Amino acid sequence: MSSTETIYCYHCTRHHPKDEMRQIDTKGGKRWRCIKSIEATKKSSSQRDAFGKTVTTINKSENQARIKARMNAERLLVRG
Ligand SMILES: [Zn+2]
Repeated sequence: MSSTETIYCYHCTRHHPKDEMRQIDTKGGKRWRCIKSIEATKKSSSQRDAFGKTVTTINKSENQARIKARMNAERLLVRG
């Protein structure tokens, strides 16, 4: 019995030791992928999320500034 059993990683298209591998569900069925590549994908997607949140916050504050400016303008009109 071998203690250095390897499994083919579809992400890296190479074999890794079994204890570095996780079986995951894909559209094409169950596949083996290494933990490293899974973690790398998670990290990059959370960075994307953080970027998306930043953009949303900027958009919101821009909208609020626009609304405030409009309210001020309307107030001036009412005062006439
Ligand atoms: Zn891999």
